[in-house]
Amino acid sequence: MRVLITGGAGFIGSHLSDAYIDRGDEVFVIDDLSTGSIENIAHLKSHPRFRYTIDSVTNQPVLAELVDQCDVIFHLAAAVGVKLIVESPVRTIETNVHGTEVVLSLANKKKKKVLIASTSEVYGLSTEVPFREDGSLVMGATTKGRWSYACSKAIDEFLALAYWREKKLPTIVVRLFNTVGPRQTGQYGMVIPTFVKQSLSGRQITVYGDGRQSRCFGYVGDIIGALIKLMDHPDSVGQVFNIGSNEEVTILELAKRVKELTHSESEITFVPYDEAYEEGFEDMPRRVPDIAKVGALVGFRPRMSLNGILQSVIDFHSGRP
Ligand code: UDP
Repeated sequence: MRVLITGGAGFIGSHLSDAYIDRGDEVFVIDDLSTGSIENIAHLKSHPRFRYTIDSVTNQPVLAELVDQCDVIFHLAAAVGVKLIVESPVRTIETNVHGTEVVLSLANKKKKKVLIASTSEVYGLSTEVPFREDGSLVMGATTKGRWSYACSKAIDEFLALAYWREKKLPTIVVRLFNTVGPRQTGQYGMVIPTFVKQSLSGRQITVYGDGRQSRCFGYVGDIIGALIKLMDHPDSVGQVFNIGSNEEVTILELAKRVKELTHSESEITFVPYDEAYEEGFEDMPRRVPDIAKVGALVGFRPRMSLNGILQSVIDFHSGRP
């Protein structure tokens, strides 16, 4: 199979590229390196079944050529990371909405199957935990930058589903919950690489808010396994799937575990949200996926425990293979 991965030099995209190369497929990557990194794909660059293009998905002639050459498309290119989103809302909205428009319209010309990566952010302030795919999405005020990410991704979902209903373009939508593992950087605010780097260097571990907010962290290797199975399955088309782990942990407990696993002397400090992000920032108190749907269709079960995930990130940032 020939697989096109937009955002293929990113954290998740590069692991997905590895998996398809290992399976014997051909991989085409397009990435503008805005948040991705050439280092993530350095080991693949000379592989005969791997090709990469450094460009934006909004460069239509370039993308059209790549769409022509491939059989299926994973659209992972997007503005990611709460910190980046709060700091650059224009870039977030434009990248996420326009990029997806271009990908879907070009894929539609050749009727190539597309998997669109959405996010658990779309559940917003919903309190119907665990979140089900058919549950309501609860957005905060438009004056709060964070919600531009959720709304832009919700538009992507609407568009992908509309292409399926109206034009019979086979599309699949996945809502990725907090995904972690080697290669993820803390540069755009993600908590686990941030805590691990802080602990390893003996700096303060910065828990935002009171640390009672909780998340479920999925291992990137488990997550891409689900993406590949959904792409392969004929009945996933026209549907939305949550993908993630359901092992819930509070952020304070996470900080303690990272400190313990790294044998660090770092002090755990609390930073008010207003200081960490922007005034009036709203966080989700709990975020837990219901993963029954993807489990029933393709047998997905998260395998890696939180401690295993943390160890893999610690090893990565300690320079251990
Ligand atoms: N967080 C934190 N300290 C940090 C970075 C993040 O306490 O240095 C918190 C953040 O406020 C959120 C959780 O960790 O409650 C997960 O943040 P992340 O940005 O990784 O993902 P999110 O779930 O917000 O998309």
